[in-house]
Amino acid sequence: ISDEKRELKDLIEALEVDLIHLQFTDITGITKNVSIMAHQIDKALDGGITFDGSSIDGFVRVEESDMYLMPDIATFTVFPWTSSPREARLICDVYKMDGTPFEGCPRYILKKALKDSEGMGYTMNVGPECEFFLFHTDEFGNPSLEVHDQASYFDLAPMDMGGNARNDISMTLKSMGFKIETSHHEVATGQHEIDFEYADALKTADNIMTFKMVVRIIAQRHGLHATFMAKPLVGISGSGMHLNISLSGENGENVFYDPEDAIELSDKAYAFLGGLLEHARSFTALTNPTVNSYKRLIPGYEAPILVAWSLSNRSPLIRVPAGRGKSTRLELRSPDPSANPYLALAATLKAGLDGIKKNKRPPEPISSNLYHITDEDIETLGMERLPSTLCEAVEAFSLSPLMKEAIGKHAYKRFKEAAMYEWNEYSKYVSKWELDRYLRKF
Ligand code: ADP
Ligand code: MG
Ligand code: MG
Ligand code: MG
Ligand code: MG
Repeated sequence: ISDEKRELKDLIEALEVDLIHLQFTDITGITKNVSIMAHQIDKALDGGITFDGSSIDGFVRVEESDMYLMPDIATFTVFPWTSSPREARLICDVYKMDGTPFEGCPRYILKKALKDSEGMGYTMNVGPECEFFLFHTDEFGNPSLEVHDQASYFDLAPMDMGGNARNDISMTLKSMGFKIETSHHEVATGQHEIDFEYADALKTADNIMTFKMVVRIIAQRHGLHATFMAKPLVGISGSGMHLNISLSGENGENVFYDPEDAIELSDKAYAFLGGLLEHARSFTALTNPTVNSYKRLIPGYEAPILVAWSLSNRSPLIRVPAGRGKSTRLELRSPDPSANPYLALAATLKAGLDGIKKNKRPPEPISSNLYHITDEDIETLGMERLPSTLCEAVEAFSLSPLMKEAIGKHAYKRFKEAAMYEWNEYSKYVSKWELDRYLRKF
């Protein structure tokens, strides 16, 4: 038994943990979970917890269904809101019975992309900005469509009634090891953002999954429903998940920083940015995976619609925030929090690295507000638009050899099937908008 395992077992005993949740993420970005009694930990660490992969979205067919979970000891965390029973969790990698990693496991897919960048001498660092809404619940505890307050950007109590829940969420995350930087009321009524410190991409993807779970659980304890859906309300800003991305080199230095350059960006930063722009249309299905995601990507709400970049303006796809030195980074503004973070980060990393491999130079930055740009200007400038529907995004995704390589043949096929199924289901539906518009008219 290794030191690592010994330490984990000591910790479980010292903290009087009763139950351990073994967690992993399916292809649609949903956390799956099987719970064990604490005394079963040896069995779990030996890969003894098996499950039926054919029952997990986007995994495998019945014929090849047995899989097992391999806990990542470094992810052990106690749930601070539990006492009796005391609960903890371990994030797991999915393995096939022959002892090899399951190629459709999103966490494995990200690890594979990270190996690539390690081979080039880079670590990918990501700081996400997850936005979410708090809604009232009805007498049965079901979510209503009534937002929890009428406050707006940076408002405070008593206007910001979500403040209590938000503070509770921040403190809970802090006690789970998150380095919370800031939290605030967002622009829309009932909308919030909590930012935590950037970390390497794998840690950040794990953190995003943990974050979403904790927000929902703590909100529920306040009688509220938290949602990470991209655009819950018509006419009101949707929820984004900006990804702040940088690369660090072998000595931990920020590879994107170059004090000699006019705007202090390195050639690598420009090339990575060029790669993100080139592949933006193809990775959008992964960063914005629901039908609803595309209702956020419309003009006027600080969400991007055009494939362009700028230094300060918040309307294009990529912004370069003002920070330099250690905090030199690119802010990708299209992703929303319904994305599977493992797949989204694998795809964006591969896109950026492709730019570096090709030594790409991005076009000139945009300085004007893109919501007011005319169609003619878009054409003259040769700017691309982000896909405007899930269907269009899946089409761009399926035509991209880089995306197929990024997430692997298996997940590529399953993701495409799942997204198109979703689109077709949606397309069959006749909405209230259509009835209001056409029932009398025609
Ligand atoms: P905004 O100005 O867009 O609202 P925030 O301050 O909300 O940005 O969030 C900035 C995020 O960027 C934080 O998660 C922070 O940790 C992260 N960040 C800072 N420096 C880096 C870096 N070098 N690489 C990646 N992320 C970084
Ligand atoms: Mg922010
Ligand atoms: Mg900020
Ligand atoms: Mg925000
Ligand atoms: Mg931001």
